[in-house]
Amino acid sequence: MKINVVKSVLEASDTMARENRDRLDKAGVTAINIMSAPGSGKTTLLQKTIPVVMRSGRCAVLVGDLQTTRDAERMADLGAPVVQINTGRGCHLSPAEVARGIDYLDLSAIDFLFIENVGNMICPVAFDLGEHLRVVLLSVPEGEDKVAKYPTLFQSADAILLTKMDLAAALNYDVSCIRDDLSRINTRAPLMEVSAQAGTGFQEWLTWLAGQRRV
Ligand code: MG
Ligand code: ZN
Repeated sequence: MKINVVKSVLEASDTMARENRDRLDKAGVTAINIMSAPGSGKTTLLQKTIPVVMRSGRCAVLVGDLQTTRDAERMADLGAPVVQINTGRGCHLSPAEVARGIDYLDLSAIDFLFIENVGNMICPVAFDLGEHLRVVLLSVPEGEDKVAKYPTLFQSADAILLTKMDLAAALNYDVSCIRDDLSRINTRAPLMEVSAQAGTGFQEWLTWLAGQRRV
């Protein structure tokens, strides 16, 4: 009987995710679930991305954190609606939370919905939120072994950003380790090397993003 209870919870979650995707599809919105460990640069990436997207289209952000509105505040002045979702003790965003977040948005007025997940390399992978694409960040200071250690996260990615590349030389970082491990588990997602400090690599990301817009 316990197994049936667990199954029904997961089914409810998947049903909710499908409903979210239906709402997004009907409005012509492309939704991107952004996942990484805490501190890899998800919010910084969005701070760099939103102003560029707003030049040719419109976007909104749902941002998940256990506590605080700090990330929403960091993005508040960029011209896009931002909804902060506080999960309390929750270590990932759920489709129900995303549904409540979407309620605050006028979907007909946006092209891209960025969903910044809670910083966590493990359980967010298991929860379909209704997104169309998954973007995974890995920062150089996290080390060269994370693709091998957290394969499910990187397997589910449609694009992967290696962030804080300005630190690579100081840390004697070997990007070929990442590329080797990815070649075994995900050959579909492009790996893009970026640095917000140096301002490098973002054009490749922005070009990829522009190509994902649904019509
Ligand atoms: Mg953040
Ligand atoms: Zn979790």
